[in-house]
Amino acid sequence: MLIDTHVHLNADQFADDVDDVIRRAQEAGINKMVVVGFDTKTINLAMELIETYPFLYAAVGWHPVDAVDFDDDKLAWLEELTRHPKVVAVGETGLDYHWDKSPHDVQKEAFRKQIALAKKVKLPLIIHDREAHEDITAILREEEAAEAGGIMHCFQGDEEMAKACLDMNFYISFGGPVTFKNAKLPKEVAKIVPDDRLLIETDAPYLAPHPYRGKRNEPAYVRLVAEQLAELRGITYEELAAQTTKNAETLFRL
Ligand SMILES: [Zn+2]
Repeated sequence: MLIDTHVHLNADQFADDVDDVIRRAQEAGINKMVVVGFDTKTINLAMELIETYPFLYAAVGWHPVDAVDFDDDKLAWLEELTRHPKVVAVGETGLDYHWDKSPHDVQKEAFRKQIALAKKVKLPLIIHDREAHEDITAILREEEAAEAGGIMHCFQGDEEMAKACLDMNFYISFGGPVTFKNAKLPKEVAKIVPDDRLLIETDAPYLAPHPYRGKRNEPAYVRLVAEQLAELRGITYEELAAQTTKNAETLFRL
């Protein structure tokens, strides 16, 4: 039994066969999944999916790449959606300095507003950090995000950043990249995260784990992430599965 804490079943890549993808995940023992919405279209789809499937939950947030499209109406809409009992987090939100569609200051503003929202509605945050480690840590601290806590999704930072995030009540979640042969840093960090702060995810359809790297990812593959983490931490797969499932249920109050 595993929980995929971050999956985009609402992405275009699953438009033709989402029911099959969900069935394969269930057959692989993935018994709960958090569908992450990041713009108008994917949030609406996430809300539809959680009405259809009892074991799906949603997170609602605005992606930093699209921060230029975020405004107070969208913020109010997100707040309204968080009242749904199966919306379990605010996100994904954060900073993404890889793409330049949205200027950094616009991204920061949208990020700060979503941290404030998570604190207001008392839900955990799901943080997206791409090439923005220092600003992410600084803003989480300035906005006192520890009050909401949440997940550092598909964590790519170093040990020092992991410790800073752990100190602010965040869980550290690993996805496909921790299985890549050349992923030295994530493998090191995966060894030092405390048992009760470790999570697993796929981020499907993106970031498929080894040996599917470069292909479309799907939630059934979260098992490969769990196996890799168990090996790195020197525990059994069953222990890793039980611990990460318990952690996800605690954080999201599932
Ligand atoms: Zn994502």
